Order: sequence, then C-alpha cells, then structure tokens
Amino acid sequence: MRLAIFCDFDDTITRINVTDTVLERFADSHWLAIQEDWLAGKLSAREVLEKQMPLVRVNPQDLDALIDSIEVDPFFGEFAMRCAKENDSLYILSDGFDYWIHKILRRGLSAYNGPVKNIPVFACGLNFDGNNVAISFPYFPEGCVHGCATCKPALFEQLKVGAEKSVVIGDGVSDLLLARNADLVLAKNGLREFCERAGIACRTFRDFRDVAQIIKTLKESNDE
Ligand SMILES: [Mg+2]
Ligand SMILES: [Zn+2]
Repeated sequence: MRLAIFCDFDDTITRINVTDTVLERFADSHWLAIQEDWLAGKLSAREVLEKQMPLVRVNPQDLDALIDSIEVDPFFGEFAMRCAKENDSLYILSDGFDYWIHKILRRGLSAYNGPVKNIPVFACGLNFDGNNVAISFPYFPEGCVHGCATCKPALFEQLKVGAEKSVVIGDGVSDLLLARNADLVLAKNGLREFCERAGIACRTFRDFRDVAQIIKTLKESNDE
C-alpha cells in the first residue's frame, strides 16, 4: 500500500514554532497585538504574516544563528528514510518560510543520504532586502477561500492522486483543513483538540518514533 504523507513543519518536525521565535527575537513588539487579532479570528493566516513579517529587522547572520539553534525531532530522519524505502510519498506543507525550513532540514538530516535530502517542501517564500525581509506565497499567489498562507487543502488534493491512502501529521489549525479528508490523522496539541471537537478520528503522537509505529500498524492491518 502506497501512502501520501502530509507533514506539518513547525511544532511537528521542530520542537517550536520558528516564525514565532523569529518574531519574538527580531520584530517590533507590535507583532503580538497582530497575533491577538489572528487568534480572535479577525485576520487570516496570510494576512497575519503580511502584517507581522514587515516588523522584522535582522541581518542574515543573526537570523542564521537563531535558525541553527532550532531543534529537530531526533526521530524524523529515520522516519523520512523509511518513507523513501517503502515508496511512500512524504511532503512537508507549511505556513512557515522556505528560507529556514531548508536550512533546518539540511542540518537535521545531515546524517542521512539519498532521497531524504530532497523531501518536497511547500511553504511561504522569504528573501532578504537589506535588514528587512520580503515574503511571498507561492502556494498559491492568488490566495484561497480559507485565507491560508500556504493552501494545504489544495496541495493535499493535488498531491494525494495516485496514493492508496493519505496521512496527515500536524499540530495546528492549518492542519485541520486537511484532517477532514485524510484516511489517517496524527495529531498533537491544538490539532488534537480541534479534531476531538469536530468529531474527526485521530491518533496522538509525541515524536516521530510514535508516528513511525502508528503508520507501520496501519500498513500491516491493510496487508492482512
Ligand atoms: Mg505546526
Ligand atoms: Zn486554503
């Protein structure tokens, strides 16, 4: 059975939310008021980033030093290796920024070789303009009905074609939009609460060792 596995990045592959950490460290404190508006449902995920990221002032060296300190789940590499070996498609879908996702993955997966070096990442774009950052939303520039920064549901529909079952792994509200249509949902923190409230079946996990075990069990039960 071939799976399409859709994995969130912040607080799922990493231990913390990188965008929030960057804002905490390098943005004008007004970013917190904008965050409140987002939590209150007054702003979409895309609008909140469009308002917050221009408040960041940082040079690439200082940003890279922070990025180098971000911890990756120690079992993620093994999990990614196993997906490649089993011919399952692993995709990273994120409302975070490609600039640091690629750097963090390169470091987190430095002990591994082969296809794990090229896990497809679908995220927001970030470039430097002096000490300011310029952001973009490649998935999808024209936006979507949900107001996503990266439209995970649209990517899910496109990428799941050809797989027998779909798996969603995540922790946040942006993952809930695809959890409704997935065959298996692995959820922690906020996503777990959202799923329970919305009546969506899910399995919880602490780290990628748990994720690997749950997926193995799913595959074995399907082979019987
Ligand atoms: Mg997350
Ligand atoms: Zn969307």
